[in-house]
Amino acid sequence: MSLLSVQNLRVEFPTRKGTLTAIDGVSFDLNQGEILGLVGESGAGKSMTGAAIIGLIEPPGHIAGGSIHLSGQRVDKTPEQFRGSHIGMVFQDPLTSLNPLQRVGDQLIETLKLHHGLSDTQAKQRAMQTLDEVGIEGKRWDHYPHEFSGGMRQRVVIALALASDPKVVIADEPTTALDVSIQAQILALLKQICRARGTGIILITHDMAVIAQTTDRVAVMYLGRLVELGDTQQVIHNPSHPYTRGLMASTPSLQGSVDQDLYQIMGSMPRLDAVPPGCAFHPRCEKVMDVCRKHVPEFDGQRACHLSDSQ
Ligand code: SF4
Repeated sequence: MSLLSVQNLRVEFPTRKGTLTAIDGVSFDLNQGEILGLVGESGAGKSMTGAAIIGLIEPPGHIAGGSIHLSGQRVDKTPEQFRGSHIGMVFQDPLTSLNPLQRVGDQLIETLKLHHGLSDTQAKQRAMQTLDEVGIEGKRWDHYPHEFSGGMRQRVVIALALASDPKVVIADEPTTALDVSIQAQILALLKQICRARGTGIILITHDMAVIAQTTDRVAVMYLGRLVELGDTQQVIHNPSHPYTRGLMASTPSLQGSVDQDLYQIMGSMPRLDAVPPGCAFHPRCEKVMDVCRKHVPEFDGQRACHLSDSQ
């Protein structure tokens, strides 16, 4: 049994002009101790998928179909609090997750007491251990968030996310705001936590290089749908969907030289109220065929595309 199972997830937003489908039939599993990447351009539905899992979709948006199971238990119909204590969240900007007026040690103690019912002494001991686990010295215990660098602040946020002992952590662009060298350290920390604790991690990013560096499997999204899913190394070395190939070709560090002219996928992702018929990627696809303009390609577990395997 997988740790987290998302099946046929559908998220809709009613508007005055009709219903917009932000997530359309997304299915994937996450195993214990595994890092699954969700990748795609801005607007692909990655963050929306994460928000649906943790129960944070802003009304009037709502889950309109499908199911989410955590350790075999259905959670898409249970109160947010249940998911909040089993699924941790790390956002791009650490300052949005931290209280600027409270010492980081106190923030951790509060979370630990809330989720585990610990005494002050027990909570302090556990908080110290958690800070140590994310590489923050105990003496920084009584510092305020603004006294930390961006990378260290993100470590504090990861400590907070771990404080409830979650089975799953969703990290949404956790390193986008950081320098490249710090980014590598934070990604290495997530990987270490995943392996040491057996936590399942969903890593949401627009960056194929982050996917290549960190994840075990990758799910590529386009306009609310999955277009490719597979082992990261397989997908990186042999992408089978034209959109994945485009993302790969436009990532400098995966192309050997940062000086060479980079490929760019033509056009841009359409808005949700202007989804093209057939394959939603067809206006931007170099391999488009007649069938693509009329029929939506089924996702077969690996990809959603009308091309044959050899094309
Ligand atoms: Fe391109 Fe057609 Fe495949 Fe869509 S279905 S990605 S348009 S080849």
